[in-house]
Amino acid sequence: MIRFAVLGSGSSGNCSVVSMGHDHVLIDIGLSARQIEQRLESIGLVADQISAVVLTHEHSDHTCGLDVFLRKRAGLPVFATSHTCAVVKEGLRRQPKWQVFHAGDAFAVGTFEVESFSVPHDAVDPVGFVFRGEGLGLGSLSDTGHVTHLIRERLRDLDALHVEANYDEMLLQNDRKRPWATKQRISSRHGHLSNTQAADLVAEVASERLRWVVLNHLSKDCNNAPLAGGEVGKALRQRGLDQVTVHCASQKTPLPFLEIRPPAPACSDALAADSTGRDQAGAARSQQSHHSSPARGLQEDPSPFVHQILPLTEYVQQEWGFEN
Ligand SMILES: [Zn+2]
Ligand SMILES: [Zn+2]
Repeated sequence: MIRFAVLGSGSSGNCSVVSMGHDHVLIDIGLSARQIEQRLESIGLVADQISAVVLTHEHSDHTCGLDVFLRKRAGLPVFATSHTCAVVKEGLRRQPKWQVFHAGDAFAVGTFEVESFSVPHDAVDPVGFVFRGEGLGLGSLSDTGHVTHLIRERLRDLDALHVEANYDEMLLQNDRKRPWATKQRISSRHGHLSNTQAADLVAEVASERLRWVVLNHLSKDCNNAPLAGGEVGKALRQRGLDQVTVHCASQKTPLPFLEIRPPAPACSDALAADSTGRDQAGAARSQQSHHSSPARGLQEDPSPFVHQILPLTEYVQQEWGFEN
């Protein structure tokens, strides 16, 4: 079983955890060490259980917690491309056990097999990841300016997706806080993904295997969970993929563990039905995929599309910051 939780996501900081067995791996570490410790506890983990960190890129909203987190965990393995490592290590008072790879490499992190792939973003060497284990696959794509053929191929036919949906195009266009140059940067081919880009990507790569999608890095001013979740959910419905639930990560509130489980061993009936075996395996997987615990603010909706609806204040009380 693979479990995945978002400790926090947005322009002020990004950190999520992917777990399998005793392996608990942080994807990015862009919250304060204290916040990470507190939020891990809220989802049933303690920080000393973290076995490794993988970095997507060097921007501070993805790396700012690393230095203090290492204070008590000096030997922690941190996986990064050589270019990302070179930038991040400059800002650290103490060094982790760096595990350097090249974008495109596959490598082991504990019992996970991890595939990395390049993404277009204004960082030195940004990457996305696919985590595999027990026959399952989880794709993770954060800051990305546009969807490339490589991204589509890497994220195709997985069991779960963690994908950026940074902004609603109309809200960004009408936003009065951001200078024109910042808006240009966000929407550029090396900026961030819009809801529409995320929806097109998810709908294209999804198969009947896909159980859930978590949308990340939602802009506090230029997006919200109903808009982002609604657009991605609609795109999946149009493809007839009603088994998929869509969740939105938030900046302030952790999104508790979601699970994907291996398919149950095929019964004799399923083995006999050659032409329908895949569908039955998919149905079994569907029955076994569920939340490990009820998510705070996440209602069990009778519809297949579940959005984490946050109080409006979640989006209007935070200080304005540039999208990183
Ligand atoms: Zn970034
Ligand atoms: Zn970012």
